[in-house]
Amino acid sequence: MIWDSIRGHGERVEWFRRTIRRGRLSHAYVFAGPGGIGKRMFARTLAQCMFCQRHSNEELLACGECSGCKQIARRSHPDLHEIGRESAKSSLVRIDQICGDSDHRGKAGLCFDMSRLPMVADRKIAIIDYAEDMNGSAANSFLKTLEEPQARALLILIASNPEELQPTIRSRCQTIWFEPLSSHDIAELLVQQELVVDPTEAAALAELSGGSLEVATQLIDPALRELRDTLYQQLAGEFDSIVLAEKLNSGIEAIGGDAGTQRRNVLWLIRFGLEFFRTATLHLSDRPEGAVIPAAVAFARRFDTRSPEDFEFVMSLFERMAETEHHIESNVSVPRCVEVLCEDLGHKLRPARR
Ligand SMILES: [Zn+2]
Repeated sequence: MIWDSIRGHGERVEWFRRTIRRGRLSHAYVFAGPGGIGKRMFARTLAQCMFCQRHSNEELLACGECSGCKQIARRSHPDLHEIGRESAKSSLVRIDQICGDSDHRGKAGLCFDMSRLPMVADRKIAIIDYAEDMNGSAANSFLKTLEEPQARALLILIASNPEELQPTIRSRCQTIWFEPLSSHDIAELLVQQELVVDPTEAAALAELSGGSLEVATQLIDPALRELRDTLYQQLAGEFDSIVLAEKLNSGIEAIGGDAGTQRRNVLWLIRFGLEFFRTATLHLSDRPEGAVIPAAVAFARRFDTRSPEDFEFVMSLFERMAETEHHIESNVSVPRCVEVLCEDLGHKLRPARR
């Protein structure tokens, strides 16, 4: 069934089905919730159900085979208009996407498309991704479309930070909240979409993803995982702070990307480190849970499970890691942060070697 590919949002599907059956579908919605949890895919599937020629809107189903369904799949349905950031690099929804460039202002763009009659379906649907990006003039142009919609038009605004939407826009839309996905769903999606082969690896990534498939896929980069393994080996084995800092910093540089990407990658390493010590403390307190990190279990075996001091010690390593997460987020030089962290961990770990 068409909705089977959407994870974790079954209640929202039922809600829309009931709403349509009661004839209460509104003309504008904000789909709110963290990035990478399937809001846009939900919006597209909803549009497909509305345009499927073999199912009534009340059924909220799509056959996948009729011309309406095929046009949606090919992104060529003349009554579905989608806009968003042009690329990951461009940060804004541009005004010409909303109302045409300066030569065609008001004669092109989403608002123009939505002002026209549907071509093949009985309504027009717009999906605006990153809607909170719309700046002042784009938002003002869009407001008119929102206030005077075509009959049966459906506008779906997607926003990870709905509080950043212009209040005049948000107040004219009904907000539907989408929850982060469960770790179980993320792990299954990673394997199902052949992003990760090993289910244990998928479970470990899912635990770190905060319920976002987008975040989980960012963590898949093999070079980043290699650095994670280096970190784990060092923590579980003969810790050498100079060697580790060198390896981590040069590894991050080798992965490349702009300063923001490098900062993000170091943050992942720190989070891997936090997971390592979290797993170790859980083992020490005899309640292992979540994805198992074998190196962290081996590390925990060096300590006495009955000793509060040992538990406190491992907790202090966790806290030192968490401090670095905070430092990196607050714009301190990233390579220096890594060096200081490794030095401090080295000092702490040396007398604890057993
Ligand atoms: Zn169909």
